[in-house]
Amino acid sequence: MPVVTRFAPSPTGSLHVGGARTALYNWIFAKHHARFGDGGWFLLRIEDTDRKRSTQEAIDAIYDGLAWLGLNWDGEPVSQFSRASEHRAAVGRLLAEGRAYKCFCTPEELAKMREQARREGRSKLYDGRWRDREPSEAPAGVEPAIRLKAAEDRETVINDLVQGEVRVGNDQMDDMVLLRSDGTPTYMLAVVVDDHDMGVTHVIRGDDHLTNAFRQMQLYRAFDWQPPNFAHIPLIHGSDGAKLSKRHGALSLDVYRNDGFLPEAIRNYLLRLGWAHGDDEIIGTDQAIEWFDLDAVGRGAARFDLAKLTSLNGHYIREADDMVLVQMIMKRLTQPNDGKLAEEAESRLNKGMVSLKKRAKTIVELTEIAEFYVTDRPLTLSKKATKAINQEARGHLSQLKSALAGLDDWHQQSLEEATRTYVEQVGIKLGKIAQPLRAAVTGSTVSPGIFEVLDVLGREESLGRINDVLGSG
Ligand code: GLU
Repeated sequence: MPVVTRFAPSPTGSLHVGGARTALYNWIFAKHHARFGDGGWFLLRIEDTDRKRSTQEAIDAIYDGLAWLGLNWDGEPVSQFSRASEHRAAVGRLLAEGRAYKCFCTPEELAKMREQARREGRSKLYDGRWRDREPSEAPAGVEPAIRLKAAEDRETVINDLVQGEVRVGNDQMDDMVLLRSDGTPTYMLAVVVDDHDMGVTHVIRGDDHLTNAFRQMQLYRAFDWQPPNFAHIPLIHGSDGAKLSKRHGALSLDVYRNDGFLPEAIRNYLLRLGWAHGDDEIIGTDQAIEWFDLDAVGRGAARFDLAKLTSLNGHYIREADDMVLVQMIMKRLTQPNDGKLAEEAESRLNKGMVSLKKRAKTIVELTEIAEFYVTDRPLTLSKKATKAINQEARGHLSQLKSALAGLDDWHQQSLEEATRTYVEQVGIKLGKIAQPLRAAVTGSTVSPGIFEVLDVLGREESLGRINDVLGSG
């Protein structure tokens, strides 16, 4: 049987790490079945029924975040709000069949009931007082809410694909509201009708929804619909074991994106956050699609570890295509800004990337360490770099500059040979000249190999930069 999953975010803020993981598991499960099973679809439903809190900005952030993560959904996204008439029609059927009823309680009555239930420690907040009453007894001027006539026998059992068998006595659950007195559908109703109409076979979501699942099961029963398989995945905790919150660092996916994390690294990290395949840490998406199953989702809360994510990101940066990385950092570099310079900068970055990318764990870091290749002369030297260019170093730099300027061939190897010849001639160690040279051409005391740097910068730019420091003082 084909598998249909869905991601059903409420658009009330940015897409956060937990939501992204839920989306990923749903996507990957569908992809697995598309490739190895009878078919798989991953649908997107925007749960925008809370009109006060839902915003278009948040909806766009969901589309954008999912697209960035590479989690493409099938078909058009469904707006839950726009399906209100389907939700109402479904309740109409339940009413006609006597499986739902009109409740004419006033807000004051309900508040009193709730208060009393709380005092008595009962989980049933509503006492079912309109369950068997005739609507003809209705007080004037009160618009009714529609409630489910929930089964009171036995218990509701869910064979959750992650949590195992979970059950609750039906006497613990009161008759839930399906339509409010203003006619608006409740969330619980909307979710069930939508999942049914969308043909969802697997509901994979955070375990904060487990208690909702019991109520939703009651509804499936009332509708005589086949319920989906449920898989409630444990929430993400911070490294201290407490539920993930702002104080553990950023929750929003956007922040990681801006901080220079790659989607493939985030995918790999989120995948492993709650799911395992032996001890494998680095699992590319293609491999993940092959291996993923719900059996191996852990029952314990996963801990979010930024250091681990960062180190995975470093791995994916090293693996990434050089040209792709260059395009990413070009967008972040303040320079170059005009056409000619941009072209020159791009070719330098393309050439230098193979070494640069070994030294960065995020795109932000990569941009910082690449910047010297494209900054305009004269460079601003760091304190350490300024110190490295002392009087003695100046003398050597000046002589070495003449030696390099005389080279016919400006390449890493010839540059190194010429420099080694120079240090042998004057009887100094290579470090004595390499460090001031690095300081002069990069403005810093750390960089990729100095001869590679000279090669990438080219003759004119390298000699110009050396001149700049020699001229200034
Ligand atoms: N809209 C709910 C949320 O954002 C998810 C509901 C569900 O997956 O059933 O938490």
